[in-house]
Amino acid sequence: MIARPCPRRRYARFERYWGYLLFVLLVTAWWSREVGPGLLIAMSTIVTLYFLFQAPLWCGVDGRFGPCRNNSHGLLVGCHLRQHKWQKLRWAIRPRYWTELNRGSPKEGLTIITMMVSTLSGLVATGIALASA
Ligand SMILES: [Zn+2]
Repeated sequence: MIARPCPRRRYARFERYWGYLLFVLLVTAWWSREVGPGLLIAMSTIVTLYFLFQAPLWCGVDGRFGPCRNNSHGLLVGCHLRQHKWQKLRWAIRPRYWTELNRGSPKEGLTIITMMVSTLSGLVATGIALASA
């Protein structure tokens, strides 16, 4: 008998990772040059907010036994521990701690890169919209 994943679990996975799919669509939209700057700005903003506040990551804040391995959401939000939430926000504000934000796993590094690309995409699309207006 072959075990199949529950349809609800597959949908839950999509709920967690939809920002990555939107990021791929954003890159595709830039590549095709068929999409106007308004939609590019909207997609870039949504993708940036996803990676800042919803992307599934490890917490990574300094704990008693090394970096915290609890699940968290987004680059700016720590795990369920209140002190970790505040510490991660403090790290985000101070540039010298920015390397600490991406030490949990390679996924954190990928998240930072995609967040920066989507932010840059939004800025360039805004520039295009302003230049053409
Ligand atoms: Zn934590």
